[in-house]
Amino acid sequence: MTYFVGETKMRCNDINKIIPSFLNNKLNQQEAEPFLRHLEHCHVCMEELEIQYLLEVGMKRLEDGGNFNLKEEMNDKIKQMELKIRRKKILLKVQRFVELLVMITFLSISIYWLID
Ligand SMILES: [Zn+2]
Repeated sequence: MTYFVGETKMRCNDINKIIPSFLNNKLNQQEAEPFLRHLEHCHVCMEELEIQYLLEVGMKRLEDGGNFNLKEEMNDKIKQMELKIRRKKILLKVQRFVELLVMITFLSISIYWLID
């Protein structure tokens, strides 16, 4: 399956390759969004992620003797990444708006000086 997010497309193969990065919190913003979008639609990769998460985190947890609610933890991890992406997008919009305001202000001043 192939999904398009903007100009980025990620296939199941790509997803498989970056699952370890996701598990180690090393996924960058560019990868994170198509990664999450793909997971929303592809239960094959979602299952793969669950398995790898269970293996990776579960083994460590066994050694530590800590508590087990790995599936919920993994879903939290995904939700947190969603939030992070959303926040960054809002921030970008605000930034563009401010840039626009600065430009308009600058233009207004320029025009004012021209007329004067
Ligand atoms: Zn997939």
